Amino acid sequence: MTYNALRLLKEGLTGNKGWKPVWRDPMPRAEYDIVIIGGGGHGLATAYYLAREHGLKNIAVLEKGYIGGGSIGRNTTIVRANYFLPGNSEFYSHSLKLWEGLSADLNYNVMHSQRGLINLFHSDGQRDAFVRRGNAMINQGDDAVLLDRDGVRQHLPYLDFDNIRFPVYGGLLHPRGGTARHDAVAWGYARGADRRGVDLIQQCEVTGIDVKGGRVQGVSTTRGVIRAKKVAIVTAGRSGQVAAMAGLRLPIESHVLQAFVTEGLKPIIDHVVSFGMGHFYISQSDKGGLVFGGDLDFYASYASRGNLPMKEHVMDAAMTLMPVIGQAKVLRSWGGIMDMTPDGSPIIDRTDIDGLYIDCGWCYGGFKAVPGSGFALAHLLATDRPHDTAAGFRLDRFRTGAGLMDEEGTGAQHNLH
Ligand SMILES: Cc1cc2nc3c(=O)[nH]c(=O)nc-3n(C[C@H](O)[C@H](O)[C@H](O)COP(=O)(O)OP(=O)(O)OC[C@H]3O[C@@H](n4cnc5c(N)ncnc54)[C@H](O)[C@@H]3O)c2cc1C
Repeated sequence: MTYNALRLLKEGLTGNKGWKPVWRDPMPRAEYDIVIIGGGGHGLATAYYLAREHGLKNIAVLEKGYIGGGSIGRNTTIVRANYFLPGNSEFYSHSLKLWEGLSADLNYNVMHSQRGLINLFHSDGQRDAFVRRGNAMINQGDDAVLLDRDGVRQHLPYLDFDNIRFPVYGGLLHPRGGTARHDAVAWGYARGADRRGVDLIQQCEVTGIDVKGGRVQGVSTTRGVIRAKKVAIVTAGRSGQVAAMAGLRLPIESHVLQAFVTEGLKPIIDHVVSFGMGHFYISQSDKGGLVFGGDLDFYASYASRGNLPMKEHVMDAAMTLMPVIGQAKVLRSWGGIMDMTPDGSPIIDRTDIDGLYIDCGWCYGGFKAVPGSGFALAHLLATDRPHDTAAGFRLDRFRTGAGLMDEEGTGAQHNLH
């Protein structure tokens, strides 16, 4: 079923009786060419691009819960291409280009909104660092505009510009940055993959990865054994646990990241605003809620909810930056599991086991990466060669030390990212 204005009008006038389920609910088959473990954004996008770009169809995505129930449905939806280091910048630049055509490509409205992202700075040194970052973004072919204090004031008049600790000196505007509707991204990719013949199998937990003679044979699941020529682990926060089923120990720690949303308000914030010094960022959803978050909870955990001290810290930062937010009521908070690598950059690679691949280490930035990651992993699975945009995301860089991409300059310590 194709979505279009005529169809919408017809259904609206006839009681919305003609809509069909957006994807099938198939029984798992005994064997596939490719099994993808994890029905989050990255797993679904991989399946979609395998079918669309490489014409492969005999693929299953195995999801232990339901499509959209992981971090893909828990994030704060920021999409940007403002990375600094070679290796990362070309990847996120490519991903943003895919975002820009995504709704049309999927025939599904992912509500991608390029409302602009502003990173604030509060000292001369920080301004210099952002000038460098802006130049790197422009050299990569993306966009960046340096704003002075008055420039920021024109866009964000509600900030406390004269805060005694963090006076606003200016900001780096990334006009093509913005947001998208997170679960629509999962649903859109799921529908696109299903329409091309991919089996999406929910309530199917992988409990073992079968390896013989150094080659993957398939997986054991709560719905039986499934054989496969190739298996990809795409389980984000659970990557360490799933890789351990094949005897692999990953350079990953799982940490909780929290997010918050207020009651719906009239439009006030029409950008994404990032206050790095306070570990705080905010945007406003199309429903009117102020969506914001802060830093990790700072201890390894698989819990999808966070601690109270971090809640307090985030509220403090919010009040410091924009005291007007004190009038809003927080409706909900939640947490998600982040797969943190030591250098803050991801992994898309083969493993030492033949036929076993891994895509993980997205830290807290994996939503914007969904199209780029799906595209690159599909390329790797189909051709056994890394895609040009993801060639640096090698698993062995943590063993050899060569090619580490310490994007935030925080050193090789998971909880500093
Ligand atoms: C609060 C918060 C805010 C964030 N904000 C942003 C942001 O603004 N911008 C941004 O770019 N990123 C953001 N992120 C990060 C982003 O959401 C994640 O990096 C990304 O969603 C992870 O990839 P995924 O979508 O594939 O993960 P998931 O949706 O978690 O998918 C992994 C799937 O694997 C399944 N799985 C696990 N184990 C098994 C198993 N044994 N068998 C079968 N299935 C299994 C899980 O059930 C899950 O559905 C945020 C994350 C959180 C939690």
